[in-house]
Amino acid sequence: MRLFKPPSSAFRAEPVSPARRGFLATACACCAVWALDPSPALAQSPEVLRHIAAAREAAGSDLVSYFGLSQIAVPTPGQRSVSPDQLMRMPTPPPGRAFDNLYFVGNRWVSAWAITTSDGIILIDAMDNDDEAEHIIDAGMRKLGLDPKAIKMVIVTHGHGDHYGGVGYLKRQYNPQIVASTLDWTMMETNLEFDRPDWGRPPQRDVAVDDGAVLRLGDTAIDVLLTPGHTMGTISLLFNAKSGGSTHRVMLWGGTAFNFGRRPDRLTRINAYIDGTERAREIAARQNVEVFISNHNIYDQAVEKLEALGKGGPNPFVLGSATTVRALTVMNECAKATRVVWSS
Ligand SMILES: [Zn+2]
Ligand SMILES: [Zn+2]
Repeated sequence: MRLFKPPSSAFRAEPVSPARRGFLATACACCAVWALDPSPALAQSPEVLRHIAAAREAAGSDLVSYFGLSQIAVPTPGQRSVSPDQLMRMPTPPPGRAFDNLYFVGNRWVSAWAITTSDGIILIDAMDNDDEAEHIIDAGMRKLGLDPKAIKMVIVTHGHGDHYGGVGYLKRQYNPQIVASTLDWTMMETNLEFDRPDWGRPPQRDVAVDDGAVLRLGDTAIDVLLTPGHTMGTISLLFNAKSGGSTHRVMLWGGTAFNFGRRPDRLTRINAYIDGTERAREIAARQNVEVFISNHNIYDQAVEKLEALGKGGPNPFVLGSATTVRALTVMNECAKATRVVWSS
């Protein structure tokens, strides 16, 4: 399955008026990959190719999903992606338990993760809309033996509708705290970057966090890492997953795609992304982050990993910290190649 398409499908990443939602609904969604057309000469520059080669080497054969980010700087002629709408229309995969305290509920397009604690459940992201929150998150949790009434906190990784769209349903049903970064609360209130008619409305500001915050529920602590770029308030999360008697450090990356190529602040964003991945790489090495997951299946392939997990053998979510570092290097080098193209 090819996941990336040529940049002829470029979209506009600007504040969205209602009149433009129809266009956006057919031409984009927030987290796949698009950009301006780089010129062929720039795409072939030695500096770009050096970064792409470094990304390819880091990706090896197991992290090619992240190497797809290179398509912004060096698009492959004729390559087409699966669109978000195609992914949304695919059959919903079964929910699954990745670790003793970490559960996947989602579809092929966007994921939510549930962390069980001694005092209730933390949900990370809320999918696209109320319907998905009810029929995929809520129903999926019940299927896994989890009680959605125990959801005490919903963390929104960034202010795009495919991550907050289902918050309204969850808030009405279970009244959890809703957490997002200060920057993205403001973005959602004042300058909504992405929207579609079939996504829920942004939630009301509730709990605002900044870099370095620690979110606690019962016996569980989640470290908040500001990883700007995808949005300027994107947060990534660090926490522990348990498996039998062992514990594995997890990093959930909050926003991966360079979907801001037509924004006037794109260089600010790509620089932030480069800095953020370098910082995260140091943290991953220092904290021995063995598990690197996403809120989009196209990157972490959680659905395929859950299928493999069900067949026995070692847990495929446990990558080892060297692989986490490589994934962040792929993202970082693709971002550097993109910066060269955008700076020229
Ligand atoms: Zn997004
Ligand atoms: Zn997204």
